[in-house]
Amino acid sequence: MDRQQPLLGRAALITGSTSGIGLALAEALASAGANIMLNGLGDRDEIEHIRTRLTREHRVTVLYHDADMTQPDEIADLVAQTHKAFGRLDIAVPNAGIQHVSSIEDFPVEKWDAILAINLSSAFHVIRAAVPFMKDQGFGRIVNMASAHALVASPFKSAYVAAKHGLAGLTKSVALEIAQHGITCNAICPGYVKTPLVEAQIGPTAKARGITDEAVISEVLLAVQPTKAFVQYEQLAGLLLYLVSDAGASVNGAMLSIDGGWTAQ
Ligand code: NAP
Repeated sequence: MDRQQPLLGRAALITGSTSGIGLALAEALASAGANIMLNGLGDRDEIEHIRTRLTREHRVTVLYHDADMTQPDEIADLVAQTHKAFGRLDIAVPNAGIQHVSSIEDFPVEKWDAILAINLSSAFHVIRAAVPFMKDQGFGRIVNMASAHALVASPFKSAYVAAKHGLAGLTKSVALEIAQHGITCNAICPGYVKTPLVEAQIGPTAKARGITDEAVISEVLLAVQPTKAFVQYEQLAGLLLYLVSDAGASVNGAMLSIDGGWTAQ
């Protein structure tokens, strides 16, 4: 095994990897030697820039597929194209997610539907299509990007909390099904990470609670995180690299908190 690139020859698919946590995780897997299928929406030129940068810096193959995580057919194609391009599919990270902050009585129905589709159902569609390839190989690592909100709730986030709790159930159920096939299925449950998704909810949370943006950071976000610090990308990457390694083979069906102690309270 190459100590610098322990994942050399592995193929990894990360949904929602054009921004934030997904991009950081794609970069970590590429730096460990894995070939990468990127996915996400957004500006095509920027995505192409990311794709060529990762290819150049890590000397792996990095491809991009524009599947919309609300569309089951497109997700099935994303998984099939990943396997076709790399001849295998070792690591699947259903990571795409969106947020909407609102009281339950004002919660827009279309936001509920979109959050359930992107944050929960898209993971089902990825896993459903990936598991046959992983079973054939006798190896697979599924790492769902859940949240502290898969374990505990906060007000004004009913759809997000419901979807992430659902993802916890999906993770555990799949873990039991695939346990004897060399595959594991786990979920990472981060506390707050300062990504575009979090930055975008500061304003609406301030409005919903009638407080300033600064107060949202100190009194709402970091208030629940005993370390009083945002979780860093490198810390999430370290956990992912452990889970996909041979050392992670017995970790299965676990909800792995990385939240500065939030859910210990
Ligand atoms: P982010 O920066 O907003 O990134 C989300 C990614 O998902 C982007 O690449 C986005 O693409 C993609 N995406 C959104 N809708 C999509 C769709 N319909 N089809 C395909 N891709 C789509 O958010 P993030 O904070 O990194 O969140 C990533 C995951 O971590 C989410 O599941 C989130 O719930 C979870 N998480 C985040 C935190 C946190 O504090 N940030 C904490 C716990 C869990 P575009 O940018 O092109 O739209």
